[in-house]
Amino acid sequence: MTDKPAHEFVGHEVKTLPDEAFTSIVRNLTGPRYPTAITVYCDRCYVDHPGIYVVTDDIGRDERLGFARARMRTIGWSCDEHGDYCPDCRPAGAEKGAWR
Ligand SMILES: [Zn+2]
Repeated sequence: MTDKPAHEFVGHEVKTLPDEAFTSIVRNLTGPRYPTAITVYCDRCYVDHPGIYVVTDDIGRDERLGFARARMRTIGWSCDEHGDYCPDCRPAGAEKGAWR
């Protein structure tokens, strides 16, 4: 299951990039923004969910993963200090943000 289209993080918001915008970023080889693949795995069933995210060099590895997990939370995953769980494996009763 590939997560398409690409996503970009603007501030703390997850934005879906329209195809044209993504294409122009990919074609602009000298620009600061570039696409990278970040995959989040379910801690219980190990299903993976690869996504394409537009990042810049000043976004570190941990921050990128945090972005991807924030994105996963918007599509039903439970990603927080307890781990990453797909919609099928998220603990019973754990509604969006219930552990926070
Ligand atoms: Zn799972």
